[in-house]
Formats: sequence, structure tokens, C-alpha cells
Amino acid sequence: MQVDGTCHCGEIAWEAEIDPQAVLVCHCSDCQVLGGGAFRWGTLIAKEAFILLHGSPKLYRKTAASGALRDLAFCGTCGTSLYGTHADHSTTLSLRLSGARQAPQLRPAMQMWTASKISWLDSLCDLPAIEQPMP
Ligand SMILES: [Zn+2]
Ligand SMILES: [Zn+2]
Repeated sequence: MQVDGTCHCGEIAWEAEIDPQAVLVCHCSDCQVLGGGAFRWGTLIAKEAFILLHGSPKLYRKTAASGALRDLAFCGTCGTSLYGTHADHSTTLSLRLSGARQAPQLRPAMQMWTASKISWLDSLCDLPAIEQPMP
């Protein structure tokens, strides 16, 4: 499936070929901190399946729990997360799907690292809800 997206400010645009059956939610604490939310969702793709249409992402290098170095790409202007990849032998990249135009259709098929899942996430649907921002 062909997907495409931009960062929030529009400086960076990309497109990618993904398997819509291989969409994952990640509950790791790095995704919580770096993604600014309770979890992140994305999918692992071959590096060649990602095409940068314009802009040049900034990289933040982190050490993963496994000890591996990972480069995390984001927009240097607005901070939108784009993807993560192994710093040295990168044949794949972990594409963040929150900025994809097709995001509402991309339903996760699996959850990763639930030991660090935010405990109130399962009861989120029980909370009172406001549908839209007030005008
Ligand atoms: Zn941006
Ligand atoms: Zn994660």
C-alpha cells in the first residue's frame, strides 16, 4: 500500500510502500518521551521503500536498550518524528505513521513492549469525551 505524509510545518514530505497488515503500536518508554504521546505507531519497511520528496530530516542518535545505536529522524523546524533506523547497518527503517495522510486507515495488528505500556490506556474509552475544540 502506498502512503504519504508530511511533517507538521510541511518542510518535509515523504512517500512509502508499506504492508498495511504489519502496522505496530510501540509502548516503549523512548516512544512515549520522544513521540510526546502514550504510544507511537508505525511499521518496519525496507529502506528503499521510503522516498524523501523534499526537506532534510535532522537525526538524533540514541542508544537502544539492546545497546544498538539508532538514528531517529525528525523535522528540525517543527519536531515531527519521521522514522528510526539502525545507525550502522540500516537496511530497514521504522516509519512513524502519525504523519501519514492515510493514518486513520492504518489499524495496528500488534503491540510491542507492553511492559512499559501506560497503565490507564485500557480505560481511555470509558472517560468523558469532548468531540471538538470549542470555537
Ligand atoms: Zn516540519
Ligand atoms: Zn518504541
